[in-house]
Amino acid sequence: MLNYKEAQQIITAQAKSFGTEMVNLNEAFERILAEKIYADRDYPPFNRATMDGYAINLKDWQSGTKNYTVKEVVFAGQHYQQEVSSGECYKIMTGAAVPPNANAVVQREKAIEENGQVSFEIESVKPYLNIARKGEDIQADACIIDQNTNCTPPVIALLASVGKAEINVEKLPNVALFTTGDELVEITEPISNIQIRNSNQYLLNSLLQEWQIKPTICKHILDDKAALKQEISAALNSDMIILCGGVSAGDADFVPEILENLGVKKLFYKVKIKPGKPIWCGQLPSGGLVFALPGNPFSCHVTFKLFIEPYLKTCFGLPETEWPMLLLSAEKPKTTPFDEFFPAIVNQQVKPILFNTSGDVKAALKANAIALHPAETQDLKAGDPIAFLRM
Ligand code: AMP
Ligand code: MG
Repeated sequence: MLNYKEAQQIITAQAKSFGTEMVNLNEAFERILAEKIYADRDYPPFNRATMDGYAINLKDWQSGTKNYTVKEVVFAGQHYQQEVSSGECYKIMTGAAVPPNANAVVQREKAIEENGQVSFEIESVKPYLNIARKGEDIQADACIIDQNTNCTPPVIALLASVGKAEINVEKLPNVALFTTGDELVEITEPISNIQIRNSNQYLLNSLLQEWQIKPTICKHILDDKAALKQEISAALNSDMIILCGGVSAGDADFVPEILENLGVKKLFYKVKIKPGKPIWCGQLPSGGLVFALPGNPFSCHVTFKLFIEPYLKTCFGLPETEWPMLLLSAEKPKTTPFDEFFPAIVNQQVKPILFNTSGDVKAALKANAIALHPAETQDLKAGDPIAFLRM
């Protein structure tokens, strides 16, 4: 049986881009850029007043002028009309272009203006006081955003600043999502006392939504070989198939067998982890991957984070996820010889959340991380360093 790192390597070795497409900037949130972005011009594009105040010429000030005539008022977005000479200044607004023969802005709060004459309550003036100079933030043609960057709000804002109304992004995979199991019921349906609501369909859909992926097929299948075969075979041209349930050792766990019968090449079955051991992973004839996850809700969540997320990241050209380390705040006993994953609350320390097996529907409720109790480590004590994955 593989350990989880070996299994991850097998998966990420198969990762490749799903292609690229142009999208409108309004649809770019959390998409991954497939192009480098260059500055179309200097930023700021002109010497910009950063305060409301009075734009003067430093030489004039240094040669002793302390009282000025306001020659013109310059608003943001408006060109100045007249040159100032000695003893004259502009009244200028934040965001306006400072005229070429002014090189300092004295802020309005430090000025006394009366009848078009202004004097300042200041000792000295530095060059370019309260002026953001042309090109001081970004120079024209500089590469400002790397390829394979996630379009977070600040990235989108910068793309807008440089006039990118459309951008080239990594295409999202075509995903088919199937849950399986005779005991499972759609959440809007009446339910008997021996049935379970299909929560994993909602879990997996929301985990995919974090990647902006909306499955093209999303269905529940009963534990029936013919039904499994029919539904899965109709999805074989997907970029990726995610199944949930039916991969363990039970008499109704048909998923691995059906997948192999349909020509999906097994990459591995079972990994030395708890929870999530029965995961099955294979490759479609087209090259895409099939992830058959175990059905217990926390197992399903952990295996998505451990295998599907690194796969997607690699396909999108994103760097490997970091597993930072902090100290554990309480003891955590070891129950298996495997790598054990458990829900945790991470702030300054890693606080393990007690949960009642991977079928506990509230296991991950308060967690902001999944922590790793490594295979080779015995019982953990408070104060032991521990690695975790943010969720
Ligand atoms: P299985 O992996 O099919 O053996 O299922 C393991 C456990 O997870 C069983 O108790 C199932 O009822 C439960 N389970 C399987 N699929 C789901 C699902 N989609 N939503 C909630 N629980 C599930
Ligand atoms: Mg089942």
